[in-house]
Amino acid sequence: MFFKKLQWSLFRLLAYLIVLVNFITFGTFLYMIAPLTSYFFFNDFRFWKYWRFYHKFYVNTFSYFKAILVGDGALLLSHLPLSAPPMERPDKSLFRLSTHWNTATENCGSCSACCTLTSNCCFRDETTNLCRSYKSPFWNFFNCGRFPISQQQLDYYGCKKFEVVDAVKNACNSECSRGSSS
Ligand code: SF4
Ligand code: SF4
Repeated sequence: MFFKKLQWSLFRLLAYLIVLVNFITFGTFLYMIAPLTSYFFFNDFRFWKYWRFYHKFYVNTFSYFKAILVGDGALLLSHLPLSAPPMERPDKSLFRLSTHWNTATENCGSCSACCTLTSNCCFRDETTNLCRSYKSPFWNFFNCGRFPISQQQLDYYGCKKFEVVDAVKNACNSECSRGSSS
C-alpha cells in the first residue's frame, strides 16, 4: 500500500506541476506534450481530436484558481490528500444515491451544478450535458470521480443526486447532540 500511495502522490504532484508550467507558459505546454495531455484528460492518445480543448482548459484554470483563492472553491481541494486513491464513484460507506433521485443513475439529467458553479468546465458537452473527460485519469484522480466528498459540498452545489448514508447521519446527529449538551 505504501508504494501505491507513493505512486498516487507522485502522479498528482506531476499533474500539478504540469498545470503550473502550462499556466506560466500561457497555455502552450499542453500542446508540447499533446499525446499525454490527451490521454490524461480524455483517455485517448489521439491528441488531434482534442486540440480545441487545450486552450479552453487554460482559460478554465484562471477561474478555478480564482475560486480556490477567493471563494468557496477552497472546499474542492480541502479533502483531496496527495496520496488519496483514484475513485470512479463517491465513497459508498458515506454517500448513496438519493432516494428522491428519479433520473438515470449514470448521468445527472439537466443538472450541471458541480461542473459549472465554480468554473464552467470546458469538458462538459453543452448539448448532451455529458462529461467528455468521464473516467479519464483527470476525472479519477481529482475532484470529479469522487464527488461528493462532504455534506458541505452537497449543500454548496445543491446536489439532489446523492445523500449521506443513514449510519453516518445518525453518528453525526449523536455527536452533535453530545457536543451541544456538554
Ligand atoms: S465531471 Fe466532467 S464536465 Fe464536470 S467538472 Fe468534471 S471534468 Fe468537467
Ligand atoms: S450537483 Fe449532483 S446532480 Fe448536479 S451535476 Fe453534480 S453530481 Fe450531478
